Amino acid sequence: MGEIISGKELSKEVREEVRLEVESLKATYGAVPHLVVVLVGNDPASESYVKAKKRACLKAGMESTIIRKESDITEEELLDIIINLNNDKGVHGILVQLPIPKHINENKIIDAILIEKDVDGFHPLNVAYMHLGRPCILPATPKGIMTMLKSKNIELKGKDALIIGRSNLVGKPAAMLLMGQHATVTIAHSRTQNLKEKCLQADIIVAAVGRAHTVTKDMVKPGAIIIDVGVNRVDGKLIGDCDFNDLKDITSFITPVPGGVGPMTIASLLQNTIECFKGIVQK
Ligand code: NAP
Repeated sequence: MGEIISGKELSKEVREEVRLEVESLKATYGAVPHLVVVLVGNDPASESYVKAKKRACLKAGMESTIIRKESDITEEELLDIIINLNNDKGVHGILVQLPIPKHINENKIIDAILIEKDVDGFHPLNVAYMHLGRPCILPATPKGIMTMLKSKNIELKGKDALIIGRSNLVGKPAAMLLMGQHATVTIAHSRTQNLKEKCLQADIIVAAVGRAHTVTKDMVKPGAIIIDVGVNRVDGKLIGDCDFNDLKDITSFITPVPGGVGPMTIASLLQNTIECFKGIVQK
């Protein structure tokens, strides 16, 4: 049976490391990292993500503030909020919870965040640095995936990795990070042909599709590694993009849903907030 990479367990370790580092930063600088999350509208999923982020910050000894705005806020008003946060020396990380209402240009908002405070790693300059392999803030979900692989000392060099999904949030950055560790990367998407054949060739599959059971047992070669990013609600239950129950017996490592990539995303966000803090206070 394959080994389960528990994001739930690993994230506890990462969060404890973060907590200790926050204590030490407080002793050195007399201040702790402060993450501000801007939430526009009242989407229930966004609301619960934002609350989970705040809870995690507070548990790690960091400061966290949620700025809530109604969905009819104008683009200019939201930009003003970002500019004020950019200029506020007591704020080290800024995160605008996506999605934001359609009448606001998402790119304008992301571009307005000071790169030093861009905890999500979505600013185009951060993305460019990641592509160039230069120091930068990495997006939390792909960063969490890499931490999971590293925690099991999984050798990536020369491995064939298939990423299913090409979003800017997950698929593309995951591909860059795996390539950076010398994997040979293929990216599949909704127009990809012969997905099954491509899956069967892969040593590592990262599924970030958002469609339950996209990857099934007949598509995976024995001993492969499965990282399941997908979160799908089916009959009131959360399940991933991969058929975990069938796959866990033939894979060498597999991540569950829930309790896999999700908790690692939050743990990585905490690490990013510390990185932003250090970048700012050490300037
Ligand atoms: P997204 O922006 O909707 O991207 C989905 C990708 O899957 C697209 O590239 C799409 O292709 C591709 N796709 C759709 N149907 C496909 C199919 N039948 N075969 C192959 N590829 C297909 O989603 P996302 O933001 O990357 O998120 C993906 C999933 O991960 C979602 O379930 C999301 O909830 C979850 N997620 C989880 C976390 C976490 O922390 N656990 C974080 C982020 C996202 P096209 O580009 O051609 O449309």
